[in-house]
Amino acid sequence: MIAQPFEYHAPESVSEALKLLGSLENSRVLAGGQSLIPMMKLRLSGPAHLIDLGRIAELHYIAQTNGNVRIGAMSTHQQVATSETLRKSCPLLAEVAGHIGDVQVRNLGTIGGSVAHADPAADYPAALQALRAQVRVVGPGGERTISIDDFLIDAFSTALAEGEIVSEIIVGADRAGVGSAYRKLQQPASGFSVCGVAAQLGVAGGKITHARVGVTGVASRAYVAKGVEDALAGQPANAATLAAASQHAAEGVDPLSDLFAAPDYRAHLARVEARRALESALAAAK
Ligand SMILES: Cc1cc2nc3c(=O)[nH]c(=O)nc-3n(C[C@H](O)[C@H](O)[C@H](O)COP(=O)(O)OP(=O)(O)OC[C@H]3O[C@@H](n4cnc5c(N)ncnc54)[C@H](O)[C@@H]3O)c2cc1C
Repeated sequence: MIAQPFEYHAPESVSEALKLLGSLENSRVLAGGQSLIPMMKLRLSGPAHLIDLGRIAELHYIAQTNGNVRIGAMSTHQQVATSETLRKSCPLLAEVAGHIGDVQVRNLGTIGGSVAHADPAADYPAALQALRAQVRVVGPGGERTISIDDFLIDAFSTALAEGEIVSEIIVGADRAGVGSAYRKLQQPASGFSVCGVAAQLGVAGGKITHARVGVTGVASRAYVAKGVEDALAGQPANAATLAAASQHAAEGVDPLSDLFAAPDYRAHLARVEARRALESALAAAK
């Protein structure tokens, strides 16, 4: 189908974009268009005004400051996957970006668009939950920073208020001795996660000193696998510990059901992919 008619706007600053968003009725921001344009063509979305963020230079950057890596919302998946800064300081996020869709999707889709869209099968949220990322948003009332856990409310639902845009994602730079990995079972046609698990492990003196695990695709929003993290803390860093802890990967969640996986199978995948991600993270930590 062809999208409903709309007016196209291409602001060159965030303040200009916010003014347009606040003044034009039925307006929507456009990032990479990898989710919004298909929705418009299927007539699931019919904005009267599209505000393209693509020309706003202040949303395009990946920079390290004071132990954090700050990623401008318009950074494409390909830029995240190939960023030297991220590969060195937060390889988990770069690895996850490399698993998204295909090269065309990675060249156009953006981290800000993915987070704002909040698809329960999107890859980034697993890593962002594991990394305890922060989402910076700007709007008519100024700016605020929200933890990813508070930002992701439910499937396709976020804490973004009317007239706000995502401007930046902030993750901590890895400490020495921390290893990470992402493992997913993907839908064969799109690459979206049926289940994706991101893990970060720190080890000292043979014991696990740091364990972070995020899961996507399994529930209506990505979550921290707290039961797994708690079961790993302070334990011997070996395969038996990882296997036992992984059993908690779907604890306390209501697994989704669709054509690709029934709830029990999704919960099983969470446990299997958690073990695989933790084994790879441990190997990277050593
Ligand atoms: C064939 C195909 C395969 C894909 N496979 C995967 C996959 O394997 N894994 C995966 O995670 N994703 C996948 N995607 C989705 C892809 O990652 C999209 O890039 C992402 O979901 C949306 O990002 P975008 O920049 O294209 O946003 P758009 O499509 O432009 O926008 C999406 C939504 O977010 C809003 N928005 C965009 N930017 C902002 C912002 N800065 N602030 C506030 N709101 C904003 C828009 O108004 C819109 O509502 C796939 C997409 C396609 C077409």
